[in-house]
Amino acid sequence: MSTCEECQAELFDPSNHRYGYPFITCANYGVRYSIMNDLPYERKNTSMRFFEMCSTCEKEYTDLLDRRYHAQPIGCWKCGPQLTLYDNVGQDLSRSKIIAKYN
Ligand SMILES: [Zn+2]
Ligand SMILES: [Zn+2]
Repeated sequence: MSTCEECQAELFDPSNHRYGYPFITCANYGVRYSIMNDLPYERKNTSMRFFEMCSTCEKEYTDLLDRRYHAQPIGCWKCGPQLTLYDNVGQDLSRSKIIAKYN
C-alpha cells in the first residue's frame, strides 16, 4: 500500500520530526513481509530489531490512540534506517531533497 495521507502531510511538514524521512510509515500501511524474518509479526522478528526506537517513536508505538501504535517498522531520522544524498560539493541534502513532492 502507498503512503497514507497523514504520513504524506508529516513528510512535507518541516516542523515534523519525520520531515523528509524516506522510511516514514505507520500502522495504516507500510512494509510487512519484506522485513519479516519470523512469526509472530513483532519488531524483534523483523530487520527493524537492529534499530532501537528513540523516545519519540517509542511514545507513538506504545500509545493506543496513536496511528503508529504497535507499528513494527516505525523509525525516524534519529533512530531508524538512514539514507543520504549529497550534492556535487558534498553538502548533505538528505532531509530536504531525498523525497520530492510532485503535484
Ligand atoms: Zn501513515
Ligand atoms: Zn525515532
